[in-house]
Amino acid sequence: MKLKILGSQGALPRRGMYSSSQILNIKNKHILIDCPEGIQFQLKSFRIKFSKIDFILISHAHGDHYFGLIGLISTYSLLRRKNKLSVFCPRVVSEILNTQMKISSMFISYELEIIELNSNDSEKIYESNDFSISTIPLKHSTYCNGFLFQEKNNKRKLNIDLALKLNINKVYYNKLTKGENVFNENGDEINYREVTSKGLKNKSYAYCSDTTYYPSIIEKISHVDLLYHESTFLEKDREKAKLTMHSTAMDAAKIARDAQVNKLIIGHFSSRYENLDLFVNEVKQIFQNVELAFDGKDIDI
Ligand SMILES: [Zn+2]
Ligand SMILES: [Zn+2]
Repeated sequence: MKLKILGSQGALPRRGMYSSSQILNIKNKHILIDCPEGIQFQLKSFRIKFSKIDFILISHAHGDHYFGLIGLISTYSLLRRKNKLSVFCPRVVSEILNTQMKISSMFISYELEIIELNSNDSEKIYESNDFSISTIPLKHSTYCNGFLFQEKNNKRKLNIDLALKLNINKVYYNKLTKGENVFNENGDEINYREVTSKGLKNKSYAYCSDTTYYPSIIEKISHVDLLYHESTFLEKDREKAKLTMHSTAMDAAKIARDAQVNKLIIGHFSSRYENLDLFVNEVKQIFQNVELAFDGKDIDI
């Protein structure tokens, strides 16, 4: 899994920095997570091919997370997109989109599937042979979800020299890496464990968008390889965090520590702070493996 941070800031524009958005590459699918206004410019500046995006996930109906959606949907038609696009978003965002498209009689050149999210419980919203996506209900001033991405069925590693020696036909190599027994050319059954070893670990990533400190999510995100958690404020501005239903760096740290995640990335910083290192310092008081999100940052998960 590879994650690219497209934007790392909160709602107010800041020179040279963009509102929160990310693109996740999981098993060759590209998922845009949140879509602030003018997303096309950010995609262009990082040389990401627009048509690559298979899914768009919207956490909630605040402008810094979805105002770019209608623009991107329209741009795709101008570019004569042909491949299907699936958008997962809160019901209210779907209603806004449909109204915008209807009023402007927008021509759509591709299959646009809009999946409305309205459950207050976690639900699996996508599943393939390779990975799944589930919602992480969050607590914010409007209906809001985070998203949990989990790889599955990572293949085992084949010892090719041994496979050749055991006279196994190449057409069975794939079966072996999937953990299935096969017969060799002599008619003997070969146990997959004999010629394969444990492959790559199935990785997991949790994206926790705007939320107040909400320990109910801990069970859901327990032991993920990477957690992104918003951290709009520093602890000294706790009252502001409370009022706006956002988290402080300390809140994000507590969640990361209690969920025993491997690594934490923080973002969605309020534009009032000049020195973002203060966020890292605050987190490190209780959780060490932390990094700041910044526009253009690449993370291998
Ligand atoms: Zn926001
Ligand atoms: Zn918000």
